[in-house]
Amino acid sequence: MNRVFNFSAGPSMLPLPVLEKAQKELLNYQDSGMSVMELSHRSGWFSDIISEADQLLRELLQIPDNYKVLFLQGGASQQFAMVPMNLMVNSGKADFVHTGSWSKKAIKEAERFGEVRVIASSEDENFTYIPKVDSSMIDPEADYVHITTNNTIEGTAFSEIPDTGDVPLVADMSSNILSEEIDVSKFGVIYAGAQKNIGPAGLTVVIIREDLIGKAPDSCPAMLNYKTFSDSDSLYNTPPTFSIYMAKLVFEWLKGLGGLPEMERINREKAQLLYDYLETSELFDSPVKKDSRSMMNIPFIIPDKELDGVFIDEAKQAGFETLKGHRSVGGMRASIYNAMPLQGVKQLVAFMEEFEGKNK
Ligand SMILES: *Cc1c(COP(=O)(O)O)cnc(C)c1O
Repeated sequence: MNRVFNFSAGPSMLPLPVLEKAQKELLNYQDSGMSVMELSHRSGWFSDIISEADQLLRELLQIPDNYKVLFLQGGASQQFAMVPMNLMVNSGKADFVHTGSWSKKAIKEAERFGEVRVIASSEDENFTYIPKVDSSMIDPEADYVHITTNNTIEGTAFSEIPDTGDVPLVADMSSNILSEEIDVSKFGVIYAGAQKNIGPAGLTVVIIREDLIGKAPDSCPAMLNYKTFSDSDSLYNTPPTFSIYMAKLVFEWLKGLGGLPEMERINREKAQLLYDYLETSELFDSPVKKDSRSMMNIPFIIPDKELDGVFIDEAKQAGFETLKGHRSVGGMRASIYNAMPLQGVKQLVAFMEEFEGKNK
């Protein structure tokens, strides 16, 4: 078997031990005589899977008791609408920090439901940095403040979570959830599509403070109301059962590794390796300001753009998959989520050094 190092921004690599465990259990899950995909979502087997997934995520992120974990569908993109539908209900106003393509989409959806104010933006410099946010910028009447903690396409990340005082902070954490320790109590809502750091596509995880549940107006469809899923423990209708099972296996893998402190240490080492090389390289460069750099998504450029295609092709031949940058940014991008082994980054850097030697 020849597995590649997959640098895709999402869906992305899953840990090999997780895939192997799923393979082992595929045809006959715990003597049920069925695969997880064939189990009723009301069966005892599946109840155990979803409650263990909930428990493990709580443990990993140290989620306080006054928060609910919801297992939903629709991706982070559906949360762009679900958040305002459920939270933009008092003043009808929300403050957004605009840091890239995903925040742009979140803003556009929220604008359908109320008054959106962009309180800080890095659009002036092509989203290559994270703008400063302090509490004086926040409308105390706003129903929430929205940030994108890690900007998957641009390769930036908040190094510090802004203090929003009494205004709930909502975070799109799709591309860096579980990559490092965070203080969940700073947030009102955290949401993430699963396909980057949690598991397969099809599952969306929402972590929400209980007092923010049950505020949606009656006109809100049941499937878009957090209360529906909170009241039913995410079993209102058929949830994405196999994706939840895979997420549970990923959470177990993370716990076995030593939890988020250890995951964070490994992620820092991986990112440092690549950034250190980009600093010294005379061919490759990072377009992102130093204090705003992401540990998960690392874009890099070659000033002579003609070489981009050559690099990407040769990398693919050598077993480094999906290094092409997002069409809106160009160049290259290495997404090195939790499941990317240190060895994958080491070998990529060695490959880049060799490419540089041939092309400078
Ligand atoms: C991938 C991504 C999204 C979109 O997620 P979907 O699950 O495809 O809707 C939104 N925000 C961020 C930060 C992402 O990385």
